[in-house]
Amino acid sequence: MSKTYKIGVIRGDGIGPEIVNEAVKVLDAVSGKYGFSLEYTDIDMGGCSIDKYGVPLTEEAVEAAKASDAVLMGSIGGDAKTSPWYRLEPSKRPEAGLLGIRKELNLFANLRPSVLYDELKSACPLCALTADKGFDMMIVRELTGGLYFGERYTKNSHGMETAVDTLSYNEFEIRRAAHKAFDIALKRRKKVTLVDKANVLDSSRLWRKITESVAAGYPDVEYDTMLVDNAAMQIVKDPAQFDVLLTENMFGDILSDEAAMITGSIGMLPSASLNDTSFGLYEPSGGSAPDIAGKNIANPIATILSASMMLRFSLDQDEAADTVDAAVKQVLRDGYRTGDIYSEGCTKVKTDEMGDLICERVI
Ligand code: NAD
Repeated sequence: MSKTYKIGVIRGDGIGPEIVNEAVKVLDAVSGKYGFSLEYTDIDMGGCSIDKYGVPLTEEAVEAAKASDAVLMGSIGGDAKTSPWYRLEPSKRPEAGLLGIRKELNLFANLRPSVLYDELKSACPLCALTADKGFDMMIVRELTGGLYFGERYTKNSHGMETAVDTLSYNEFEIRRAAHKAFDIALKRRKKVTLVDKANVLDSSRLWRKITESVAAGYPDVEYDTMLVDNAAMQIVKDPAQFDVLLTENMFGDILSDEAAMITGSIGMLPSASLNDTSFGLYEPSGGSAPDIAGKNIANPIATILSASMMLRFSLDQDEAADTVDAAVKQVLRDGYRTGDIYSEGCTKVKTDEMGDLICERVI
C-alpha cells in the first residue's frame, strides 16, 4: 500500500496563496511518480486568520499543524503602511502568528540553504571569479535560544542609562542543534563548520565543547570551526568552501541574510524550521510581497524548493526531492524566468506557468 503523509498548508497572505498553489501542484506530480500520496489540510494563519477569527493564530490552527507530518507555508503579512492589520497591537498582528506557531511546535533549528545556480550567475554581486565557482551552502541556525530569548532590561545606574541583553545556552540546546547539522551534512557533502566567537564568549566555548563531542559520533562528517568575523568575510571571499554552517541564533540571523544576498535572488530561496522529531515548517525566505500580490507574477521557485526540503527532511523522500531540485535546474537551463530573475534572451513566464513547466520536468 502506498504511504500517505499529512501536510498542513498555510497559504497565508499576499503572494502566499499563489506560490503555495504551484508548490502543491509540483508535490502532486512528484508524489504520483514515486508512489506516495499527500493529504492536505488548510490552516489559516496571519492576516487571513485575523480577518476570519480576529487573531493571527487560533488553537485549532496549532492543533491542525501538530496533527500533520509537516507544514508547507507561503508567507504572511501585508503592507505595514496601509493594511488595517498593523493598526492592531503587536501581539495581534500577522507576524505574531508565525512567532506563535514556531514556539508551539518547538521549532529550534532554522535551515537556510544558499545556492548559486549556473543560469543566475549574473545576479550574483560577487566578483566573476567567485561566482564562476558557484556555491551551495546550508546555514543551520539555532532559533529559540541565545541573545534574542535571554533576559533583557534597561536600568538607570548612577544617572547612566544602561541596557542589558543576556546570551545564554545550555548543553541540551546546543547538542540538539548540532545533531541536526550533522544529520543534514550526511545528506549533503558531509562537512560541518561551527561558527562562533570562542576567542571571547563563554557561550561560544560551550558550543565548541558540545559540538566537538557530537562530531565524534559522526566519523564520516568533516568538522571544523571558524570565528564569526572571519566567516562573514569568507562567505563573500570563497563561499564554495562551505557545506553546512552551524551557528547560534544571532550569528545565524546575520549570516543567513548575507548568504541570501550573494545569490542575488530572494524568489529562489527556501527555508525550513525543524523540531526534534522529523516535523518541520517549510517556507520561502521572502515575505508576502504585497506590491505584486494577485498579479500572477511572483516567483514560486522558493516555495517549490521549500516543498523539496520537506520531502527530504520530514518525509524522507530523498529521490523525490532530488527530482524536484533537478526539475528547477532544468527549467532555468531551458531559459524560463519569472520577472524577478528575468534577463535578456530568456522567456518571461507567469507564476502558474512556472509551476506547470516544473511539473512537466518532474514527470
Ligand atoms: P518581501 O520579501 O515580501 O518583499 C521584498 C521585495 O522582494 C519586494 O519587492 C517583493 O516584490 C520581492 N519578492 C519577495 N518574494 C518574491 C517572490 N517570490 N517573487 C518575486 N518577488 C518577490 O519583504 P517586505 O516587503 O519587507 O515584507 C512584506 C510583508 O511580508 C510584511 O508584512 C512582512 O512582515 C512580511 N514577511 C513575512 C515573512 C514570512 O511570512 N515568513 C517573511 C518576511 C516578511
